[in-house]
Amino acid sequence: MDIKKQLIDGSWVTSNSDAVRDIINPFNQKIVATVTESDESDTKAAITAARKAFDQGDWATTPAAERGKIVHKIADLIERDREELAELESLDTGKTVEESLGDMDDIAGVFRYFAEMADKDGGEIIESPIPNSTSKVVHEPVGVCGQITPWNYPLLQASWKLAPALAAGNTLVMKPSEITPLTSIKVFELMAEAGVPAGVVNLVLGPGDSVGAELSANDNVDLISFTGGIHTGKKIMQAASSNVKNLALELGGKNPNIVFADADFETAVDQAMNAVFFHAGQICSAGTRLIIEESIHDAFVSAIVDRVKNIKLGSGFDESTQMGPLISEDHLNKVVNYVENGKQEGATVAVGGSRPDDPELQNGLFYLPTILTGCTSDMRVVQDEGFGPVITVEKFTTEEEAVRLANDSIYGLSGGVFTNDIAKAERCVAKLRMGTVWINDVNLYFPHAPWGGYKQSGIGRELGKTGLEEYQETKHIFQNLKPEPVNWF
Ligand code: NAD
Repeated sequence: MDIKKQLIDGSWVTSNSDAVRDIINPFNQKIVATVTESDESDTKAAITAARKAFDQGDWATTPAAERGKIVHKIADLIERDREELAELESLDTGKTVEESLGDMDDIAGVFRYFAEMADKDGGEIIESPIPNSTSKVVHEPVGVCGQITPWNYPLLQASWKLAPALAAGNTLVMKPSEITPLTSIKVFELMAEAGVPAGVVNLVLGPGDSVGAELSANDNVDLISFTGGIHTGKKIMQAASSNVKNLALELGGKNPNIVFADADFETAVDQAMNAVFFHAGQICSAGTRLIIEESIHDAFVSAIVDRVKNIKLGSGFDESTQMGPLISEDHLNKVVNYVENGKQEGATVAVGGSRPDDPELQNGLFYLPTILTGCTSDMRVVQDEGFGPVITVEKFTTEEEAVRLANDSIYGLSGGVFTNDIAKAERCVAKLRMGTVWINDVNLYFPHAPWGGYKQSGIGRELGKTGLEEYQETKHIFQNLKPEPVNWF
């Protein structure tokens, strides 16, 4: 049997325990690969390799331009293997190949962006207030980075961590989600091919409560960067306190889209769907809370329901498919319960609200795209991150009420405002407590712009200049040009 392995200190090896895990295609629940299942001892070995590569290897002191060239080469190889990677991502997650191809282009773009940034920071000279002295600020790599990623955008989320960590001169151990490791395994092969030295990048495969917990708590790790759910994020924050690690947390979202009556109606309807139904709603920034001005509420709901009925579910490998399955049986059950709870709380199912009855979809983990109307912000279905293809609809009558409803969440990842009144849009944006706000658009992100959340959606920012800075320490260097005793004591 071909068992996919973990990468420790430049060697592809099976785990010490010899345990394995089958990777399942959520479209038909067939096994697509079997991977070795790492344990704490493998994780410790990977951390030791990364520590040695940082403390005794050359990567941190390699000229930044050279590191940039290698990161560019990784982007070249991702572009070379774009289709293979996209198919692997779709097999593993169920999303359409078209979506996965788009992801691969974005991923190559992320590596290129940080490759370009690698040698652009020359530090800073500070005007020293002390006579006969110089003062400068330099940025250095943080050290050994632990990186933990989720299953929804496996390689995209990995790229946001790998590219800046390497560009800044760190070494790392990554743990992808145990259910979607395939594209990460492939990219670690590509990183070796691109010339990343042995021990600089290490990959462990396995569950969060053993492998992830070790990575978060181990004193030889200097930084932990995590993308995933809020409850896991809180555990990691606690574990990371053991040696006061640097911490970057990209957590969940419950993102509102405010639609004013003066918005372009067709665009807003179209974007309200784009906000949620890609990858069956399994997107941290999914616009799952639709907040509509009362005067257009009924017409808007009717228009969106008509379109939702036509969304084609199926295999991600079928070009006519618009929405794939949910990731796992566990997750499907969570979405089923989430909607059932919403119904019990008084929400009305305007469309969807169940698994499809199409016989061809019965082996897959599908849930119908769903709109729940009559929702209010005191309902759990409006407050909890369902992470499925489900929109809740609330109404408002004033601008203040719209902003209040949008902000009524423990999350603060992203949100959208649809209006043709730019002054109104700007007034709302200024009051929205979110890391990203789109005006008349949804879900747009690119490597140059920072990404992250307010409130319990996380700590820190990936992408953009801040995405590199997360992987850097700042050092102030003061030099006395005329040393002589001070004779204070
Ligand atoms: P999850 O929190 O269950 O798992 C994420 C990762 O953490 C996995 O690799 C898992 O194995 C690991 N993990 C689990 N328990 C752990 C522990 N005790 N210690 C260390 N690691 C542990 O999340 P998920 O279900 O894989 O992903 C969905 C979540 O990710 C959603 O909440 C979504 O909003 C969030 N997400 C956020 C962003 C963002 O940019 N803010 C992007 C993508 C996904």
